[in-house]
Amino acid sequence: MYIYADNAATTKTSQAAIDAMVDIMNNVYGNPSSLHTVGQKAKEALEKARVEVAQCLGADFKEIYFTSGGSEADNQAIISAAKFGARKNKKHIISTKIEHHAVLHTLNKLEKEGFEVTLLDIDESGIVKPEDVEKAIREDTALVTIMYANNEIGTIQPIAEIGKICKEKGVIFHTDAVQAAGHLHIDVNKENIDMLSLSGHKFHGPKGVGVLFARKNIPLVNIIEGGAQERGRRAGTENLPAIVGMAKALMDATKAIDETAEIEIKLRNHLIEGLEKISHSILNGDREKRLPGNVNFCFEGIEGESLLLLLDAKGIAASSGSACTSGSLDPSHVLLAIGRPHEIAHGSLRLTICRDNTMEEIDYMIKEIANVVEYLRGISPVWDELEKGEIKHII
Ligand SMILES: *Cc1c(COP(=O)(O)O)cnc(C)c1O
Repeated sequence: MYIYADNAATTKTSQAAIDAMVDIMNNVYGNPSSLHTVGQKAKEALEKARVEVAQCLGADFKEIYFTSGGSEADNQAIISAAKFGARKNKKHIISTKIEHHAVLHTLNKLEKEGFEVTLLDIDESGIVKPEDVEKAIREDTALVTIMYANNEIGTIQPIAEIGKICKEKGVIFHTDAVQAAGHLHIDVNKENIDMLSLSGHKFHGPKGVGVLFARKNIPLVNIIEGGAQERGRRAGTENLPAIVGMAKALMDATKAIDETAEIEIKLRNHLIEGLEKISHSILNGDREKRLPGNVNFCFEGIEGESLLLLLDAKGIAASSGSACTSGSLDPSHVLLAIGRPHEIAHGSLRLTICRDNTMEEIDYMIKEIANVVEYLRGISPVWDELEKGEIKHII
């Protein structure tokens, strides 16, 4: 048995997306910028994909820009809104402590260029209070950027409420919806979203392709200079097979959101109930306002990396925190932000399932995780003292 439970890192490309891509590679090889028939056929496929993506978000197709992924879309959105604000002397940006590094590192860069960044706290379940956003908005606020759903602990933010506040205050609102697109219902107009990022490979589409939605009144700054592709806002010959595959995957996922969520929530809740039975374990994130496929636990006295390696040997592909931070020994900034102490944040395990997982797999994971946690605690030099309370512990 090999169980893939790391869908927040990436998903398996769907067969329908692969078929759509292969068809483009075989039959639609033209450059969409060419004026001849072969090129125009490619242009048609490109524009069809743009309309399809727009429909999934409730957007206008003229507001859809194809990028190389979620990271590029986040960079371009934030830099564009910042530069637009700076023209009117607005150099303040509001975000949260639990954003993806594509957002946080872009904000760091802007801080070095003289922008001021307010990173809001979240509550212990990882949710931002809309009133905190409202209080933080100033005369010189250029942008609010808050993720739709968190990639580590799965919490879903009150996006519509934040969007409403931003609209009332006349501040641009960007959301990194990479974990939400294809998993939750998104409507950029109803939720008053001005800019949104998504990525193909988080909803069973291909990797290396994404979307930036940006309203027409926001002038985009080019991250990649060159030709006039994407209405002059993103140079480079379009990755047509990936764009078409992404659009197919997004349409399929969007049509099936409710049905998929029902299946995943059943699996997820069973997994949560099983892991909660392990002593000194704690669920991270909100129980209700949570991505259907996300499970994230801390196990006291455990080192996350050892847990992952032993689980991999048992045929379970999981993650501790986010893939982007693995390789470093720093505990997750998200777990620290929800108040987990360093020692406990180190013992985190993220399992992100999809509708292809089965109850049998969930039961196997519960059993094996309990075994591995018990084994690791058994060989830990400090676990006895921790359990007896001779060393301070929290959970
Ligand atoms: C995966 C992810 C990204 C990055 O997307 P890429 O397409 O891999 O660049 C950004 N934000 C969130 C929340 C993500 O989960």
